[in-house]
Amino acid sequence: MKVEQVLHMNGGIEDNSYAKNSFLQRKVISIMKPMIEEALLHAYCNTFPHSMGIADLGCSSGPNTLMVISKIMDTIAGNCDRLKHPLPELRVYLNDLPGNDFNTVFRSLPAFYEKLKEEKGDEFGPCFIGGVPGSFYGRLFARKSLHFIHSSYSLMWLSKVPAGLESENGVALNKGNIYMAKTSPPIVFKAYLEQFQKDFLTFLKARAEEMIGGGRMVLTLLGRKSADPSSKECCYIWELLAQALNDIASQGLIEEEKVDSFNLPQYTPSPQELDELVQKEGSFILHRLQVSQVKWDIEDEVDDGFALARGQKVAQYMRAVAEPLIAAHFGEAILDVLFKRYSEIVSEQMKTGETKFTNVSISMERKGDEDLCI
Ligand code: SAH
Repeated sequence: MKVEQVLHMNGGIEDNSYAKNSFLQRKVISIMKPMIEEALLHAYCNTFPHSMGIADLGCSSGPNTLMVISKIMDTIAGNCDRLKHPLPELRVYLNDLPGNDFNTVFRSLPAFYEKLKEEKGDEFGPCFIGGVPGSFYGRLFARKSLHFIHSSYSLMWLSKVPAGLESENGVALNKGNIYMAKTSPPIVFKAYLEQFQKDFLTFLKARAEEMIGGGRMVLTLLGRKSADPSSKECCYIWELLAQALNDIASQGLIEEEKVDSFNLPQYTPSPQELDELVQKEGSFILHRLQVSQVKWDIEDEVDDGFALARGQKVAQYMRAVAEPLIAAHFGEAILDVLFKRYSEIVSEQMKTGETKFTNVSISMERKGDEDLCI
């Protein structure tokens, strides 16, 4: 499975779309607003640009995409107003993998520009928003063209499923699991960690080329507090999906071997692991590191008309995220049965346990060339 070609959130605006099922991710962006605002202020005051390059990496499609951009613009406008500076021209780049539903985002741009004009007047900007399809595990932008980078809930996705998980002498190494789990052997944890380290260093190297000295980057990843990579806080939601897959395999609806050979291209790092990689790469100063948590079933801030039970709602947003990967491996025919079973399992767990996601956020500054020990 080539992750770059398969991974994307469910497009469109239907019931199973990411656009309709991304309130949890929206809540996380709101929690990180103070960190984003602080970093933007520094990015602006460090460089006082006439033309400011801004990128959102892993922007997906739906209300969150332009909400982030709108918050960023409000903050820049507020900063310039306080400092009595003219507003810079804004170059805003929305990045995601090529399979992302960019069309839905692009179609919403005229209304976004219109609203911007109404709220901020003609003098705002000018502002140019464009899409940049491609993997952030490679160069996406021209050298030294960016002042601020934001990314939320995207960087825990790996560039590929870690190598060597498939099988040893015909036996799958991560049998019965689809991610790191309590029952995974140590070699599985090692393979996942090594892939994440490789990917995250590649990511930092590429961004270091693209950012100007003094530019800022705020990243939020699904992660964990614990040093233990099999900790419930990051793996449990996937263990329950594995359980649903194993259940329908035992009913003969899918082959057991298919479950054994499926592993998610994801890694949920600890704060310490992130810190170490930033230090190792060396181009950035880590200013802030924050851990936050959100309940699986946060109240939907926007009344989207759904009256789903708690577990069903969680299963539905997980479906919006995981469906393309699952469909590519198991076929589309099992999707409804699988996610129905998943919602029953999730509902059951939510009655008994503490069910929260842990987020790790970091705010970094690109060192100036004079600060780098080359
Ligand atoms: N930032 C949005 C979307 C998060 S969903 C929000 O907070 O709501 C994660 C997104 O990251 C998906 O759209 C996925 O396609 C994208 N993504 C994952 N790996 C990527 C990569 N290597 N390059 C670019 N985008 C990637």
